[in-house]
Amino acid sequence: MEQIITAKLKLEVRPEESEILLGTLSAFRNAMNYLFAENFNDKSTNIRTVHSKYYTLLRDKFNLPSQLAVSSERLLCSTTKTLWSRFKNQKDKAVLKTVPKYKQLSAKYVINRDITIKTESMVCSITTLSGRIKNIPLKGWRKHYSQIRAGKLGDPTLSYDKKSKTFYLFLPIHVLVEEKSPQLAVGIDAGIRTALTAVSSTDTTKTYHIPETAKAKKAEFGKLRGDLQSKGTRSARRKLASVSGRERRLISDVTHCLSKQVVSDFQDARIIMEDLTGIRERTKTYRKNPEDRRQREQWNFAELQFKIGYKSVLYNGIESLKKNPAYSSQTCPVCGFCSPKNRNRGAETFRCLQCNFEKNADIVAARNILSLGLFVN
Ligand SMILES: [Zn+2]
Repeated sequence: MEQIITAKLKLEVRPEESEILLGTLSAFRNAMNYLFAENFNDKSTNIRTVHSKYYTLLRDKFNLPSQLAVSSERLLCSTTKTLWSRFKNQKDKAVLKTVPKYKQLSAKYVINRDITIKTESMVCSITTLSGRIKNIPLKGWRKHYSQIRAGKLGDPTLSYDKKSKTFYLFLPIHVLVEEKSPQLAVGIDAGIRTALTAVSSTDTTKTYHIPETAKAKKAEFGKLRGDLQSKGTRSARRKLASVSGRERRLISDVTHCLSKQVVSDFQDARIIMEDLTGIRERTKTYRKNPEDRRQREQWNFAELQFKIGYKSVLYNGIESLKKNPAYSSQTCPVCGFCSPKNRNRGAETFRCLQCNFEKNADIVAARNILSLGLFVN
């Protein structure tokens, strides 16, 4: 079984090399913005059409090396494809009305083409606007080094972080994981008061909470964001970006900790979660409680689920399952009677109108998700 992880590696460059890399990344950025503007009318996603139209231009006007020119064309096509599908699926009509902007200083490289990595000595050589820079030392997390040496490498992204004035390489590694067979199953529900409720097939129940300190911090960020948004000045916008960044990192920390806890608590379990994709289209069959939904969106439960699934494969060798959660919060796990009125006693308690079974609503939902997964097996 394979899992892709991403190693973040710092490039140790000399000042003159730094200048050249910066020039390359800003040329790539200019080329992307040019392509977005030129392709705005056609919104073509066809790589052949785009290639025949722009390749020579990208080489001449922006001086891009041939592989980077092709990478920018590919990035244009994949970004446009994503916009089209958002337009179609989410009925997000505004999404195609403005020219996309490429703001970051980063470019996609192709492994063993315009970048090569010597994994034993951990140095890379990379193509730029002014030829190849060789033997740049790469520094990262030690554990990643052995994975880089053992695994198959994907195409990395070179990125410049303005704040720390540092170049980073985000390198995908295909890691081989030994597949294990699960000894039990566990259903996981994302609720309101408890972030996660887990019920296992051996009837263990565990709840996971978002730390109060994180909740307080999140509220603080929210208030700050509101204040800055209403100001609307240039400096307010800059501060807003920084607040949003800190908020994202907070959420990322919280989802990292929660997911790690879950996979270490259930090391030999097949984890079953709700399928959150296309949830907006399914709102009729989904929970209507707005507070419930708001909380999920705030703490990015999609990211949390992704991390649980990812870590379950990486650490436990077990693939997780996703199930359509329709009615999981309204169905009685004892007699199967399904009605929204089963939740009439408030958000916390479930009480079946047919058999009078009564239990914490989150546990009922988790148990129903668990049985959805067991049914297939
Ligand atoms: Zn019942």
